[in-house]
Amino acid sequence: MVLAKTVFCSTKQAGLFCGECSSCKRIEKQVFPDVLTFRENDEEDLKVENVREIIYQMEVAPLEGKGKVCCIEEAHRMNAASSNAFLKTLEEPKEGRYFVLTSTKPGSLLPTLISRSMVFHFKPQEASIVFSKEETELWESLLLNLRKEKNTEAILEHCEEKSVCLRFLLWIQASLRNRVVLENDPSPFQYLSPMDCVYKYQLVVELERKLQSNANHGLLLESLMRKEFRA
Ligand SMILES: [Zn+2]
Repeated sequence: MVLAKTVFCSTKQAGLFCGECSSCKRIEKQVFPDVLTFRENDEEDLKVENVREIIYQMEVAPLEGKGKVCCIEEAHRMNAASSNAFLKTLEEPKEGRYFVLTSTKPGSLLPTLISRSMVFHFKPQEASIVFSKEETELWESLLLNLRKEKNTEAILEHCEEKSVCLRFLLWIQASLRNRVVLENDPSPFQYLSPMDCVYKYQLVVELERKLQSNANHGLLLESLMRKEFRA
């Protein structure tokens, strides 16, 4: 839905959406004609004839002129025949057509489908983790300092212990998520567009995964901070 709003919002700033305009509001209410959503609880299985129909609907000219977004939840419901019917469209979509496939069982997706997609990893919010005001203030100031001074030293020093580093990464994940999901969240990432947050979120999740097995967390953290959070 963030991607759809970014495509259709009437604001002129690339990568942003306002949440207020007619397009944003209709997308939120799921009544925007050029956003097609196929819910996981739809009775209909994603049979090959359903997929052909989706492809046809996506090829028809958009009603509001800007493009079309199609979101298929739990895309692993597609069998091999359905997935194969999709491949050509995913490889060479018409201009302004966006396909978002979500899945809680990515292992069940056809590898040829995955290889034609940009893959973003997400994970459930860990409700049990609560960050103190002190932690939040400290980490916010470290990030602000990183952007001002262009220097990763203070963060690396603070995250010298791996357990602290992991907690810091979880906090970044929560803050990026809040920036996208909550309205008027006082997130330290207000300066990023929602799509930027989605992109950076999955990099942080990836790093967190690597740290579970890799001892040299300092080097990996330094690289992520320098590339993604310094500017
Ligand atoms: Zn808008």
